[in-house]
Amino acid sequence: MKIVTVVGARPQFIKAAVVSRALAGHRQHVKEVLVHTGQHYDANMSDVFFNELDIPRPAYHLGIGGGPHGQNTGRMIESIEIVLLSEKPDWMLVYGDTDSTLAGALAASKLHIPVAHVEAGLRSYNRRMPEEINRVLTDHLASLLLVPSEGAKDNLRSEGIIGSKVRVAGDVMYDAALYYREKARRPATEALDALGDNGFALCTIHRAENTDDNGRLQGILTGLAALPTAVILPLHPRTRSRMAAAGIHFPDNVRVIDPVGYLEMVWLEANCRMVLTDSGGVQKEAYFHGKPCITLRDETEWVELVEIGANRIVGTSSVAIGQAYEQMLACEISGAVQPYGKGHAADLVIEALLEGHPVKSGARTAVSVDD
Ligand code: UDP
Repeated sequence: MKIVTVVGARPQFIKAAVVSRALAGHRQHVKEVLVHTGQHYDANMSDVFFNELDIPRPAYHLGIGGGPHGQNTGRMIESIEIVLLSEKPDWMLVYGDTDSTLAGALAASKLHIPVAHVEAGLRSYNRRMPEEINRVLTDHLASLLLVPSEGAKDNLRSEGIIGSKVRVAGDVMYDAALYYREKARRPATEALDALGDNGFALCTIHRAENTDDNGRLQGILTGLAALPTAVILPLHPRTRSRMAAAGIHFPDNVRVIDPVGYLEMVWLEANCRMVLTDSGGVQKEAYFHGKPCITLRDETEWVELVEIGANRIVGTSSVAIGQAYEQMLACEISGAVQPYGKGHAADLVIEALLEGHPVKSGARTAVSVDD
């Protein structure tokens, strides 16, 4: 069986690391061909993950990044199509909700190559998010939808995607959290050294709805400035360039550092007091590492953690951020409930791919997985 996997952005490297490692255990009968679109291209947004997470070198690097959504997606489809015509895989494997995800799914489905979507079924129900458009379209193109939770399966059902195409696999990022926890590394940065034992909150900001709206960005920064703690903020390149363009500065208690590798990020998540973020992945990792989370958005796809009480959606009002911080400090995260599987999602993904292997099942698009 041959799988072409398309990745392009930071969270996809982490998800692919887990699945590619599990796939390596099947190398006698499975060949994975990795395609990196180039959507994230800075060394600390891409290379560091390949190096420290032992991800196989991409067989193809398309070098497409930095442009607007339409241009990026169009160029990716064109290049991925060429790869697919040459590789003729049995599966296209895509992760998450980026332009690379959608481009992979579109290119493959037009060539009648079945698409497997890992992290399917998530919805914010906010169509202003580019990620939401990518998710919905990819799910509707996919032949195999690997969902992280029962709730994600319900979302698909309400859109008419049902039956043997959908499998509850759990979240591969939970697998990653468990596997890499032992390997976590304290970042060597003066920002941390200067804190001594005083502790810190961890913040990330990169969603377009925040970075591209000065009012929202300013609300977050005013909220952070009023917190009774230092804040470590590994700064996403998009946020850095938007803030520079808008002339917005960070408050004194916010210690900005460059984006860190995953092992350092895990250390920060495991050692902070609290996480404040607009990231999808970081919301979950806060929970996996026993920390309360404040989500700097108006909604989340990861609703289970809000229901458990471990995550609070506050938007970008500075007052709401301050109040939530005080209240969430008392929140004990036991981790007794794990809504995103048992930590072997990657194995379930591979099992589903093997079961649905077109040659085995006798039809290119038939996927014989259980409801
Ligand atoms: N991450 C990282 N270094 C950083 C910030 C984030 O390794 O400086 C990791 C984080 O631990 C998580 C993933 O990147 O696994 C989340 O990616 P991001 O927030 O960019 O995207 P999202 O999850 O919102 O799609």
